[in-house]
Amino acid sequence: MGCPKRCAYCFELHNPFIEKDEVKIKINTVKTLREKISRQDKRNVILVDGYDCEHAEVKEHLLRDSLKVLLDLKMPLVIQTKSDLVLRDLDLLQKLKEEVDFVHVVFSITDLDTSHHRIFEPYTCPPSVRLKAMEKISNAGISTGLFLMPVLPLISDSQETLEELFKEAKEHECDYIIHELLRVVGSGPQRDNWFDTLEEHFPDLVGRYQKMYPYEKDAYKFGHGPFDREYTHKLNRTITELQTKYGISNNLSHRKTVDNLIKPRTQMSLADY
Ligand code: SF4
Repeated sequence: MGCPKRCAYCFELHNPFIEKDEVKIKINTVKTLREKISRQDKRNVILVDGYDCEHAEVKEHLLRDSLKVLLDLKMPLVIQTKSDLVLRDLDLLQKLKEEVDFVHVVFSITDLDTSHHRIFEPYTCPPSVRLKAMEKISNAGISTGLFLMPVLPLISDSQETLEELFKEAKEHECDYIIHELLRVVGSGPQRDNWFDTLEEHFPDLVGRYQKMYPYEKDAYKFGHGPFDREYTHKLNRTITELQTKYGISNNLSHRKTVDNLIKPRTQMSLADY
């Protein structure tokens, strides 16, 4: 629980169970996972997103041990990450794919600008490294995608920036790209952190951002996208055109599917289902 990467837009800051920069290790993860999944419908998809806590994972290998459980129980899997540590477990992913077919590894990337990487996600592995990892995983026969998230309005949303990312993604065997615009909470630590970063690096954009993401007392904790319908439509249109141009799907199930998967309804966590 928690994440050491300190991305400027991260919602972990709203997690009431951790202090800033704190990582708590759930030492009973593997045991709990086996117990809970054994009672679940085997067609549910498991989402794993812990690879970004690299130091903890290298020490505790909870994810690797969890993958062994998923392999044993033949569970469909989606891994979401910004880290190439997932390559360590490629052997298990390949074995799981032989059993259930539905195995996806999705890398989150905002854009390929190295200065943006230093400003907004300074402790994550560089996007170019994520793309190389994506290609290796794809070449191993596993579906790979890109979460183009978050698109940062007026920063990472230009036609050139987006096109460069689509081109590189295609060259690195990306099957699909799913995008989402930056979400900012109306008040609270995520908002403060985001606007502090903006003040420091893009002071000219603060006013525009305040209009797109107005302050709101006691706001919904997952925030909202920009309050600018025209802008959002235009961005969506640009991305759809790029998807067509580069032959990249916007659908997670693009390359490999199994027939009887349950359609996603609600997302449950290991702690509460
Ligand atoms: S890697 Fe993900 S969870 Fe970690 S700080 Fe960045 S956005 Fe948050």
